[in-house]
Amino acid sequence: MSEFDFDLFVIGAGSGGVRAARMAAASGMRVAVAEDRYMGGTCVNVGCVPKKLFVYASSYREAFEDAEAYGWQGQASAEFDWPTLRDNNAKEVTRLNGIYRNLLGTAGVTIIDGRAKLSGRHQVTVGETEYSAQRILIATGGWPFVPELPGSEYAITTNEVFSLEVFPKRVLIVGGGYIAVEFAGIFAGLGAKTHLSYRRDLFLRGFDNDVRRFVRDEMAKKSVQLHFQHQVSSIEKCTDGSLRVTDSDGKVLEVDAVLYATGRKPNTAGLGLEKLGVVVHKDGTIGVDDNFRSSVTSIYALGDVTGGPELTPVALAEAMALVKHWQNGKTAEIDYNNIPTAVFCQPNIGTVGLTEEEARQAGIPVQVFRSDFRAMRHSVSGRDERTLMKLIVDRDSDLVVGAHMVGPDAGEIIQGLAVAMKAGATKATFDQTIGIHPTAAEEFVTMR
Ligand code: FAD
Ligand code: NDP
Repeated sequence: MSEFDFDLFVIGAGSGGVRAARMAAASGMRVAVAEDRYMGGTCVNVGCVPKKLFVYASSYREAFEDAEAYGWQGQASAEFDWPTLRDNNAKEVTRLNGIYRNLLGTAGVTIIDGRAKLSGRHQVTVGETEYSAQRILIATGGWPFVPELPGSEYAITTNEVFSLEVFPKRVLIVGGGYIAVEFAGIFAGLGAKTHLSYRRDLFLRGFDNDVRRFVRDEMAKKSVQLHFQHQVSSIEKCTDGSLRVTDSDGKVLEVDAVLYATGRKPNTAGLGLEKLGVVVHKDGTIGVDDNFRSSVTSIYALGDVTGGPELTPVALAEAMALVKHWQNGKTAEIDYNNIPTAVFCQPNIGTVGLTEEEARQAGIPVQVFRSDFRAMRHSVSGRDERTLMKLIVDRDSDLVVGAHMVGPDAGEIIQGLAVAMKAGATKATFDQTIGIHPTAAEEFVTMR
């Protein structure tokens, strides 16, 4: 008989927690997972999944408009109904919550509903009950951060945006990262007058500069009002429910909703970490070693709460690497290089590897291949949307060290290129590969 109730107690049934719990249970461990809010975590409930569904919804406006040139008449006057989208999204999320619960149940994981906190190095308390476990895994993810300013209580975040009672016809989005540009595309596509406020001169800091400029120009074509070098000073609520947003220059903007997309903070408050001596960094993230072990040997952490790349596939990969490490005792194998990612702004961004700027800074003799063209679909629709593709090559080794795209389905295309780059593809390999015609993707193997 073990001295503990469980071999593993996972706090948080999000992307990382569910994967770790299922894999650990499959390897014979007795596992419990505590979840406070929703099965599946951020990604399923207020992140990747609803976001992508809303991106799909927002893409129909242009599809209807473009259809006319292809002989489909009468679509452009179609009207958008927010409650239909909102409620169908909620139904889908509920369906996924059930799937996650079943997956855990059939894997033999004990599900404990409620907020967990650490009450000892091997103890977790949920409500009035204390459980003991040989190992504890913290996978509590993050929470939207809204800076303090007068009226910030009127702002919404992605926690609320998918379930708004009424569709906001005028929206201000604050931020310049993934979420800000994705929601600018969503609201503009759904027909809202959309403003984006970013505090510096160009959003998407850290992405390839060509990509950033290209997205800026495409977004402007789609009537998103871009306010760069812009700071919101205050938000006031008017008697008719609208919001008056004043900026640092004293200019006023009237909107129906203000969405803050100014990053996320790790969910570590109230977990009881400091009392146990678990090292928590200044930004709230939990410090872990290569095997996801915190400064307390029985306590582990992974996913967004540890401050790595905040992406679902990263949390999943960490969970799998950790359970494998427990099984074979070897150092957890995880490669944080060349993590591909997509931003579902419109058109999408897909990217993997070094930006041109990073490659130059690293002293790599850089050769850039770039293609900027109008996709075939728009030769007939007449839409003035362009696609950008860019390869960054190390001239000495001929290795492809970066691949970037802005265009429809960029994420779908870049995923394949990420595999090629993992396998050590050179520019010559790309050149030797026969294209698929007619596609946009073939451009990646024909750029000379
Ligand atoms: P989470 O999924 O956040 O799970 C943490 C869980 O822990 C939550 O369910 C929470 O309720 C629970 N919890 C917290 N504290 C406690 C406690 N004390 N007791 C019990 N339970 C607790 N990533 C992508 O790869 N692609 C995308 O397209 C994408 N889109 C996104 C869109 C949005 C709007 C957002 C906000 C995020 C998006 N992400 C995307 C990021 C992705 O959702 C996260 O990186 C991922 O969910 C992190 O997984 P995690 O397991 O670390 O935490
Ligand atoms: P990001 O960290 O990507 O971006 C935050 C933005 O807010 C930055 O532009 C930042 O500006 C700005 N900002 C931060 N603080 C302030 C402030 N006090 N006032 C004004 N602006 C501020 O966060 P997001 O919220 O967009 O997304 C969180 C994470 O979720 C992402 O980093 C990503 O990893 C993940 N995600 C992934 C998606 C995907 O894979 N498609 C989609 C959505 C989210 P500055 O540049 O100056 O720092």
